[in-house]
Amino acid sequence: MKAKDSPPAAVPEEIARRIIRDCADCDCCRPILDEACLFFPELYRLHDREMETGRKPSSDELRGMVEKCNFCALCPCPNIRADIIRAKTAFVARDGLPPRVRLIEDVARLGRICGAFPRMTDRLLSSPRMGKRLKRWLGIHSERRLPAFSKENFLAWVRKRGLDRKPQAAEGRRVVYFAGCTATYLFPEVARSTVEVLQAWGLTVFCPPLSCCGMPSFLEGDREFTLRAAAQNLAVLSAAVEEGYDILCSCPTCSFMLRGLLAEGAYFSEAYQQRVGADARFIQVPARARAGGRPVGGMEVFDRAMFKNILKDDGYFSGLDPLQRIAVAEKVYDVGEYLLQREREGEGPQGFSPLRLQALYYPPCHQREQQFGRPYLELLRRVPELEPTALEGNLHCCGLAGVMGFKQDFHEASIALGDRLMRRIREIHPQAIVTDCLSCRLQFEQLLSYPVRHPIEILRQALQPSASRQPREGKEKPSA
Ligand code: SF4
Ligand code: SF4
Repeated sequence: MKAKDSPPAAVPEEIARRIIRDCADCDCCRPILDEACLFFPELYRLHDREMETGRKPSSDELRGMVEKCNFCALCPCPNIRADIIRAKTAFVARDGLPPRVRLIEDVARLGRICGAFPRMTDRLLSSPRMGKRLKRWLGIHSERRLPAFSKENFLAWVRKRGLDRKPQAAEGRRVVYFAGCTATYLFPEVARSTVEVLQAWGLTVFCPPLSCCGMPSFLEGDREFTLRAAAQNLAVLSAAVEEGYDILCSCPTCSFMLRGLLAEGAYFSEAYQQRVGADARFIQVPARARAGGRPVGGMEVFDRAMFKNILKDDGYFSGLDPLQRIAVAEKVYDVGEYLLQREREGEGPQGFSPLRLQALYYPPCHQREQQFGRPYLELLRRVPELEPTALEGNLHCCGLAGVMGFKQDFHEASIALGDRLMRRIREIHPQAIVTDCLSCRLQFEQLLSYPVRHPIEILRQALQPSASRQPREGKEKPSA
């Protein structure tokens, strides 16, 4: 499937100036996001300077401003976030992407390069001089730690077990597991644990070859890469959905992309309107789908004459088949969410072994954005002797923002951005941190000394006959 032709090029400076104008008029985010976001302080600085001195922001300043947004979704207006991405995309379409960013945004390629000779890569990265050079070549900041590369990435593990071949005539529930690039190449133990837990729940697991979810390139404004990856995934996933598979993601950013961003606007497409038999007077969409949520049953009806210019499929992914986007989005689940549903329906293992541990659960931003509660917390509470508590209240961003925190010119800002969250965690002083976002995990491992685990690893451990061991200390990481 190919994307339709791109829309006419927008002028990035105009989009960026419009964002400044809208947010300066509103001013809501000035006090609330002064420390939790790098974008708004810069926006208000440029706006205030222009008000005081008449000096307009230059093109470079406008590009620098939109590049400060890491799409953490803490701000209240999705249309502003969409405009930020539009501005980034328009800058890249016109001025290009620096080659180092192009290298680092392709996490799968980076994983393949570095993981081809894992021992040698780890040795090089742990050497002070060569490590710095290698990181510079990769466009990674010299002080950024990387996890040790595994001898066997998840794809190789999957191939050995034949999980990349479609199961024959399987009975019961069948799921496609979308592991995501970070788990596949940097944390294969998380992806392996996920498969083993899903199997322990009685599910038939299929792991077909898939592309990156597209979030890193989306954040960098690389539309071509993002659409190519999305089209490849849609072809594989929609075919699986047609055969009755559900799609499970252990990474909340992947599920946010596949069931949120990718499907945005798809219900307003002509193809969907024809399918539901909407007539010339009304637009019909499933309830809640309009706001980007999962349909909850029942349809909302809008007057076509009044809303046809607002409610339409004209967003970032509108060039891809809207019916495939909907079919996939409606069958994508977070692994924790899916397991909890199965458990409530009486499916799954009989119980867990005790595991003595005080664990602090950090719900990452793209998990919170999907509004499906804290399923992992509920599952972890079923493990005897495990004391999971969630970090509540003002949940600051960890600051890594996908691959942005790895970049040479974003590293310092990324550390500063995560500082408030790190201080809160140090005050709590848990035995271990549990989070489902592997980007957050990389940042926690960079800045804190606590072991960090994905909740699925804890569940995997608690499924063993004698689980009551502390999680292993983090893998030895090459020093910067
Ligand atoms: S993001 Fe929305 S709420 Fe925040 S300043 Fe801009 S317009 Fe106002
Ligand atoms: S998405 Fe996050 S980083 Fe971007 S503007 Fe909103 S709060 Fe700031």
